[in-house]
Amino acid sequence: MSLSRRVLLEASKSRWLREHAPRYSFFRRTSERFLPGESPEQALAAAQSLAESGVGAILTHLGENITDPAQAEAVVQHYLGVLDRIGAGGPVAELSVKLTQLGIDFDRDLCLAHLVTLASRMPPGKLLWIDMESAAYTDATIEIFSRAREQCPNIGICAQAYLYRTEQDVSRLIEMGAPIRLVKGAYNEPSEIAFPWKPDVDENFFFLSQALLSPRAQRAGVRAAIGTHDRTLISRIIAWAVSQGIAKDRLEFQMLYGIQRAEQTRLAREGYRSAVLINYGTYWFPWFMRRMAERPANVMFLARNLFAR
Ligand SMILES: Cc1cc2nc3c(=O)[nH]c(=O)nc-3n(C[C@H](O)[C@H](O)[C@H](O)COP(=O)(O)OP(=O)(O)OC[C@H]3O[C@@H](n4cnc5c(N)ncnc54)[C@H](O)[C@@H]3O)c2cc1C
Repeated sequence: MSLSRRVLLEASKSRWLREHAPRYSFFRRTSERFLPGESPEQALAAAQSLAESGVGAILTHLGENITDPAQAEAVVQHYLGVLDRIGAGGPVAELSVKLTQLGIDFDRDLCLAHLVTLASRMPPGKLLWIDMESAAYTDATIEIFSRAREQCPNIGICAQAYLYRTEQDVSRLIEMGAPIRLVKGAYNEPSEIAFPWKPDVDENFFFLSQALLSPRAQRAGVRAAIGTHDRTLISRIIAWAVSQGIAKDRLEFQMLYGIQRAEQTRLAREGYRSAVLINYGTYWFPWFMRRMAERPANVMFLARNLFAR
């Protein structure tokens, strides 16, 4: 991993930076490319404009580890408020949540109950997705996901191609017929548990995509979402799917707001399912640093805004 990526990922964990950086306009200006705003209204307005181009939306209210049940309850109430707005004629969107925001660190049963509450209030046919956080949470996330699905089948989970274990996890999740969003993985994991070289991560991503689109997955009823902006991988997966006779509407691509916008609409126009994860909220600094770390050009983008008026 490059030094700049390591520095940015460390910065994403700094409490001081999280509290102070948003006061600086150059951080705010740069983050606007990746976040439509801090309020749910701004996120829903972005969802509406995506819907007009045939692109679906998944909303995430930014925030990470919370420390008490009252904070978890506040997160649930926030999302219920968003679902009420959707129910009252807002653009139809899915949600994606982090279990560290729902209490996984201090009460797994409470976290499960919150998950079920949210899933049972989703619009018809829409999923509640669970983000996958650092490897310290993988087992607990899969456990809570499996228990929640016994009560609500409209819950999906994210799998990270950079972890060695994901091949086995994906196989188990396929067996369950789970909705699965495949991503490369955004955390700083050691080489004992994660592929240290990007080409290996990309290769594993391709291999896991094939598993998610296999006849076995189709028979089990898996909804496979390919979460990447990597156009080479997307073309490779589409070419493979064509060679296997896989229908276009079984291929769903998910991207992040503000990244590869033209590709998002192109895929929708060509008949693939295309959706965008929209992050919003005041707690955006750690998330924004992780996005910076993903691409060296983003650091130049940040630097240019530093000098822009
Ligand atoms: C819908 C969705 C949900 C996600 N959920 C999770 C999750 O729950 N857990 C988790 O660990 N990770 C999650 N991620 C992040 C993911 O793990 C990767 O870190 C991120 O998607 C970048 O990898 P990539 O697949 O786009 O490929 P890369 O090889 O990193 O990028 C390919 C190309 O995409 C473009 N690109 C990628 N990232 C950026 C960026 N930040 N800014 C500008 N251009 C960029 C560039 O052109 C780059 O060359 C999610 C990603 C998506 C799209």
